[in-house]
Amino acid sequence: MSLETSFERVSLPLEFPFTIARGTQTAAENVIVQVEDDDGRVGIGGAAPSPHYGETAATVEAVLPSLLEVVETVGDPHQLGRIERRMRAAIADNPAARCAVSIALHDLVCKRLDVPLYRYWGLDPTETVTSSYTIGIDDTERMREKTEIALDRGHDTLKVKLGTDRDVEIVETIRDVAPDVRLYVDANEAWTPKEAVRTIERLAAYDLEFVEQPVPAENPEGLRYVSEHSPLPIAADESLITVDDVPRVADRCDVANLKLMKCGGLREAKRIVHAARAHGLQVMCGCMSESNASIAAACHLAPLLDYADLDGSLLLDDDPYDGVPLPGGRIDLEAMDRPGTGAGTQ
Ligand SMILES: [Mg+2]
Repeated sequence: MSLETSFERVSLPLEFPFTIARGTQTAAENVIVQVEDDDGRVGIGGAAPSPHYGETAATVEAVLPSLLEVVETVGDPHQLGRIERRMRAAIADNPAARCAVSIALHDLVCKRLDVPLYRYWGLDPTETVTSSYTIGIDDTERMREKTEIALDRGHDTLKVKLGTDRDVEIVETIRDVAPDVRLYVDANEAWTPKEAVRTIERLAAYDLEFVEQPVPAENPEGLRYVSEHSPLPIAADESLITVDDVPRVADRCDVANLKLMKCGGLREAKRIVHAARAHGLQVMCGCMSESNASIAAACHLAPLLDYADLDGSLLLDDDPYDGVPLPGGRIDLEAMDRPGTGAGTQ
């Protein structure tokens, strides 16, 4: 058997400029990997590099030739464990680049076996979750309008980005237009520990599921302080990158928010799920600004999750890739009628 590989950089405009505490994005800069077998089956995977974790489309393009050389040398896509180990030995960092290859290989393996990814993993497609739809930071009136748009599109689970000088006002406004949705908030490290506790005490009046990453990841004692004093559950995102971080954060959060682009692949993502469960944490899977070339794969983890924030494709102006159907955000794996992750060009 031999495998042919290729990759291509794409810039996908977002529907609305997307602002979080750290800055604004207007497009998803992704790199799409393809791995083709002798029979012409093509596995598709996407890298959605995050500058916050030191990656850009340029760094992904720089390391992909080395990673894809590993794939072509091993030559058998079913050797997922061996390929991922060798990729890590070749390129230790650059998890988004490794992740694109991992997803493309899983997609190809499932296409060769003619099963959707969840079925390859033995997961029950009816045990799914609903992805949140994220409302980015904007002036409060515009955030109200975006919430109304989300409700019109059938979303019943929303995530709101915070880290402003009017965080309570924002949540009050959104609760006003969306009194019945499941709601959680993400400060993206914006608060000091004391400020976090003070703010969360006021946010607790608005029936929130949890508060994500209240303080900087560089302040693990701050995260512990917030977790011990917060009236709401705390989710760790920037504080939790790979499976090694799970025991480090387990006593200072309630929800582990894994992301494929942080951890470097689908096998590592599953390791995080199981390690987090073993430590008594709830599990969430989030995403970067990414197309269905990678989001579709993450959707197959749904039966293992308590929460999903897999709205990357929904936030694009027009995703060139198909994925798992997400009516109103519900990850409808049962409606996935084709093998692989479901990522394919329209
Ligand atoms: Mg987050």
